[in-house]
Amino acid sequence: MITSVLPTYARAPLSFVRGEGSWLFEAGGDRYLDLGAGIAVNALGHANPDLIGALTAQANKVWHVSNLYQIPEQQALADKLVDNSFADTVFFTNSGTEAAELAIKMARKYHYDRGDKDRIEIITFSGCFHGRSTGAIAASGSEKMVKGFGPLMPGFVHLEFGDHEALKAAVGPKTAAILIEPVQGEGGIRPVPDQCLKGLRDMCDEAGALLIFDEVQCGMGRTGKLFAHEWAGVTPDILMSAKGIGGGFPLGAVLATESAASGMVVGTHGSTYGGNPLACAVGNKIMDVIANDAFLSEVNRKGGLFRQKLEGLVAAHPDVFESVRGEGLMLGLKCKIAPADVVKAGYDAGVITVPAADNVVRLLPPLNITDADIDEGVALLDQAAKALEG
Ligand SMILES: *Cc1c(COP(=O)(O)O)cnc(C)c1O
Repeated sequence: MITSVLPTYARAPLSFVRGEGSWLFEAGGDRYLDLGAGIAVNALGHANPDLIGALTAQANKVWHVSNLYQIPEQQALADKLVDNSFADTVFFTNSGTEAAELAIKMARKYHYDRGDKDRIEIITFSGCFHGRSTGAIAASGSEKMVKGFGPLMPGFVHLEFGDHEALKAAVGPKTAAILIEPVQGEGGIRPVPDQCLKGLRDMCDEAGALLIFDEVQCGMGRTGKLFAHEWAGVTPDILMSAKGIGGGFPLGAVLATESAASGMVVGTHGSTYGGNPLACAVGNKIMDVIANDAFLSEVNRKGGLFRQKLEGLVAAHPDVFESVRGEGLMLGLKCKIAPADVVKAGYDAGVITVPAADNVVRLLPPLNITDADIDEGVALLDQAAKALEG
């Protein structure tokens, strides 16, 4: 008999009733160090007093009004994102996959309005993940996600990650946009080298195509810059955000330049919930805490510390781990055994990690994790590795 919750997830037998900082607690009192943060979502940890304050203050005023009216909290958050990024304008969604939908629509409309109606192709790369809507699975093209759900939205060109020759051959007069994660998340914490991001920017400029960065996972301070592409010194035309931007409250956003967004006039897109007062009250607080040099340099320092300790862990367990990868607090342990087994052993030891493709276990802790919790996390992972070596 089917379960009352649609069984699309193979859930771990863990059930948390409370969180505090980087820790999660089960009803019986067992505690787990959360190095997954709900898949890079709880940017400021659990039960953060600032976020609780922002959410409850708004909850006592007004929850929802719809986008038929002015929403001061949404206006304030859009201003903050524009002030702190390449973007001139922002649309708010409730999730990453909705951000993908708008990014795709926006890119096609841009070319359509220029009379370039055949420019509908969007180039994506193997290992990418842009969400689970029909548009986003078509963008990914991965067999695992699309099988049985056809016919798929046409117009996506799937290339091998890192295949420069194929890319050069694929970009042309039909290319509407290149869509890429500056650091692949689900794909296994695979950073795109700065030189390649620069190369993509140049290619798009030459071909008259738009560049879309999916920073749903790698953005909002995760790599030690507000947005990961800042490391490469290039900017996209369109950027997708979600996950950390709401700190656990459902919120996403599409950021764009004035030019890229020029086709999105009144009536071309909408969302009932997107950018509602509750979500934006939280988003504003997240931006206030994260979008400054002091906070981001701490993310870098902690990322460096964590990485250094993880190198030691890998050296101590050469049969379990192969290497450390990633940037800031978006780290991955490349494993020599099935990552699911490492994650499971972590649960037994009291530490939460997240599996990814390419035999990688992801470490995506709250960005405000303490040094002591980083120490403890590595100790718990060490315990897990020892148990695996049995
Ligand atoms: C999680 C994720 C998405 C999809 O976000 P949802 O909120 O689950 O729809 C899109 N892109 C990337 C890079 C992601 O990590």
